Amino acid sequence: MRIVVVGGGVGGLTAAHRLGGEGHEVLLLEGSAELGGKIRRRRVAGVEVDVGAEAMVNRRPEGVGLAAHLGLDVVHPTTASSRIWTRGALRPLPRTLLGAPLDGDGLVASGVLSPEGAQRALAEVVAPVEGDPSVGDLVAARFGDEVTDRLVEPMLGGVYAGRAREISARAAAPALLALAERGSILQQAAALPVDARPVFAGLEGGMGGLVAALAAGAFEVRTGAQVRTVARRGEGFEVTWAATSEEGPRPHERTTADAVVVATPAAPTARLLADLAPDAAAELRAVDHASMAVITLAFALDDVPRLAETDASGFLVPPVDGRRIKASTFSFAKWGWVRAAGAAEGVLHLRTSLGRVGEETALQASDDELVARSLADLREAVGLEAAPVDTHVQRWGGGLPQYRPGHVDRVARVRAAVAPVPGLVVCGAAYDGVGVAAVIGSAERAAAELAP
Ligand SMILES: Cc1cc2nc3c(=O)[nH]c(=O)nc-3n(C[C@H](O)[C@H](O)[C@H](O)COP(=O)(O)OP(=O)(O)OC[C@H]3O[C@@H](n4cnc5c(N)ncnc54)[C@H](O)[C@@H]3O)c2cc1C
Repeated sequence: MRIVVVGGGVGGLTAAHRLGGEGHEVLLLEGSAELGGKIRRRRVAGVEVDVGAEAMVNRRPEGVGLAAHLGLDVVHPTTASSRIWTRGALRPLPRTLLGAPLDGDGLVASGVLSPEGAQRALAEVVAPVEGDPSVGDLVAARFGDEVTDRLVEPMLGGVYAGRAREISARAAAPALLALAERGSILQQAAALPVDARPVFAGLEGGMGGLVAALAAGAFEVRTGAQVRTVARRGEGFEVTWAATSEEGPRPHERTTADAVVVATPAAPTARLLADLAPDAAAELRAVDHASMAVITLAFALDDVPRLAETDASGFLVPPVDGRRIKASTFSFAKWGWVRAAGAAEGVLHLRTSLGRVGEETALQASDDELVARSLADLREAVGLEAAPVDTHVQRWGGGLPQYRPGHVDRVARVRAAVAPVPGLVVCGAAYDGVGVAAVIGSAERAAAELAP
């Protein structure tokens, strides 16, 4: 079968790798100049570090399974633990499920909540769950608004760059929803089996290694190939794209295929499917996106001796605290390979992130300004006074889809609208989870649908 894959993020690459490996003739078309999408590495102070996704969930099989299949060395974060910067101090992160408390004593001891907030949280209100509530509303109804504001918000701010009261519990927190449907979350928490496996996995040298390994698969790649149309031609498809190369734009190019995998974000997918599957396009057009920026900072080791000793892997920041950044990851403390590579250059790396859905105007600032905001918050949070020796600002416009209440049903409607077009499949972050592992899972399912 001749197959065109549109989009060279981890979704498209996974589908192309698998289908090419099965002997199909695969052409992957990527609109930008490089493969990887939201997985990207850049050199900061002499070290290639991730400036997009930096980890994948370890407790589901797709990501680590693919890495093992590709012969990549999976590594896990160190035992350094994350903090919450709230109520004027860095506080330990209590045991939670996406912010919903699982340990009352730990919650109180953490000091994340005010005494009144903690008291309300311990008096969990158990009530039936109706429909598809937002994660924030579900948790606030059980444990009070403060738990949503100070715990759920920073968690979802990191994963979705979203707002807790606008993100579907069914799509983003099915395990939490299942607990809530069975009764008291706090009471069940004590009996939850302890999973000894690390929560996250990464790759020695960064997640960018996954892109490089996938790209070495048995398929043809064109970068600078912005796909414009996917149209039905007889039993198959005609795909056209605008090509750009180092010499500049070239006239539209076209090819035919027996099957097409559309692995682009919701908005371009909606444009590509407008004629082929108009109902799917309409659903995808309604998916909102959040923009964010990741700021990587490298400091001379000699300038930050105290920070170098930290046992924290970084911290999250609830929006209610009114800070500029929403999180900081002390990459040198979280990843052994980042610490070692930095030490060889006499530096340590950390990163901050800014931007939640609806905060686009806050990102309309110069790179220098975003760095300055990061440094101002770091100074207050951890007393970091030194100036960085190198910085990198990566903007991710519309980087993360927002799974609003009703998302699971929306995705079912998209799939129902795509299914009648034989040879057409979709995959990527818009559907069954935004994380790298979930996207890999959606790509593997799409590939299996085409070539069972
Ligand atoms: C800043 C940031 C940090 C993240 N951190 C993590 C993390 O630590 N762990 C985790 O699990 N997840 C993380 N995520 C989420 C995860 O990285 C993404 O959801 C996932 O990588 C998306 O993969 P994808 O293939 O669906 O889409 P993308 O990576 O968006 O790839 C889609 C590709 O399609 C191309 N394209 C678009 N339109 C066209 C067209 N018309 N023609 C041809 N090509 C086109 C784009 O250029 C892009 O390369 C993060 C996301 C962001 C933004």
